[in-house]
Amino acid sequence: VTAARAPLGARLRERAPLAPRTTLGVGGSARFAVEALDEADVVEALSLARERGVPLVVLGGGSNVLVADEGLDAIVLRPALRGIESRDEGDHVIVTAMAGEPWDGLVDAAVTRGLSGIECLAGIPGDIGATPIQNVGAYGQEVAQTIRRVRVVERDTGAVRELSAAECAFGYRDSVFKRQAKDRFVVVAVEFALSPGAPEPPRYSELATALGARAADSATIARTVRELRRKKSMLLDPSDENARSAGSFFTNPTIDTAALAALEERVAPVLAAGEAMPRWPGDGGRVKLSAAWLIERAGFAKGTRDGLVGLSTRHTLAIVTRAGARAADVLAFARRVRDGVLERFGVRLVPEPVFLGFEPEAIADLVASG
Ligand SMILES: Cc1cc2nc3c(=O)[nH]c(=O)nc-3n(C[C@H](O)[C@H](O)[C@H](O)COP(=O)(O)OP(=O)(O)OC[C@H]3O[C@@H](n4cnc5c(N)ncnc54)[C@H](O)[C@@H]3O)c2cc1C
Repeated sequence: VTAARAPLGARLRERAPLAPRTTLGVGGSARFAVEALDEADVVEALSLARERGVPLVVLGGGSNVLVADEGLDAIVLRPALRGIESRDEGDHVIVTAMAGEPWDGLVDAAVTRGLSGIECLAGIPGDIGATPIQNVGAYGQEVAQTIRRVRVVERDTGAVRELSAAECAFGYRDSVFKRQAKDRFVVVAVEFALSPGAPEPPRYSELATALGARAADSATIARTVRELRRKKSMLLDPSDENARSAGSFFTNPTIDTAALAALEERVAPVLAAGEAMPRWPGDGGRVKLSAAWLIERAGFAKGTRDGLVGLSTRHTLAIVTRAGARAADVLAFARRVRDGVLERFGVRLVPEPVFLGFEPEAIADLVASG
């Protein structure tokens, strides 16, 4: 039904609380908030922001953001466009999902149809439109492996464009949307090329071990991933005491081989007999380290907390909040962990979530990647 709908301007809500719209559950209000139900709405929201002289901030499912206690003097736009379509093309099934579809619903629908390519990404919260932003990944898979195209509205011109996967410049928890094209586009749809064949055997050792020797179909892999995630409180489950998080709070740092040699020396005293520091080959010949391991060995055990903010009791990398916590408390705790790892090992951890509504100088020390 195409019942007449009020123009976007009439649907603007004022002083809209944002804490309930984020999984960390902290932060102030948006001066204005509105949902876009189609591309025309996105374009209208952009011109409204220009008219009113306020920035436009995109907020999806709120599972990867920290909103400032002062809130946002902006129009907060939720791309709530819905719909999923698929078509066969050569060896692939091309699935086009609109930005406001829940990511995990797409994974579910895909594995139920026997499609593979995103099964290891089961249980990740948030909307489709956010998945290309940080190239969502887990258990050895990332969306960069299946994204074919990203449909965007260009914020300056209102023009609709289709970006190829190459143009998205995906990297580890990274893409053009976090760098050269930061704040340039609103993602309205994402096209994935999935495979109707059997999934590749998972490479991630924890998942491979959980699956055992049997050849698993994509539905079995997705189910196993959910079980593993549940044990680490990495599913959104309101009954879980660790539920209020943004997932991993720090990305795994990458360093060059010269820095690795220096790190080996600093790490030696905390290694048990025969133990090696976890590491993997990273992008561009660099070495990827385990942020969780470094945090633990710097003396922060799971469950370490300062008042209402602390580490998850089941996952070292997740910072969790309790009711009444403020964004400032989250920042203070994140700095404590960051500084502890820096002092002990000389490695600077960088947060994964996006900080919204903070003065740039208030968070410059946290987001600066060195
Ligand atoms: C329990 C838990 C587990 C998690 N596990 C993982 C994991 O395993 N792997 C992983 O990669 N992430 C994980 N995350 C982080 C998060 O779920 C993902 O990053 C997710 O893609 C964020 O989606 P969202 O809709 O909530 O985005 P939001 O948090 O709303 O937004 C994140 C950023 O994307 C931008 N954005 C959102 N939508 C759009 C759009 N349509 N157009 C342009 N910009 C947009 C926002 O402006 C913001 O900068 C986890 C989070 C939680 C809470």
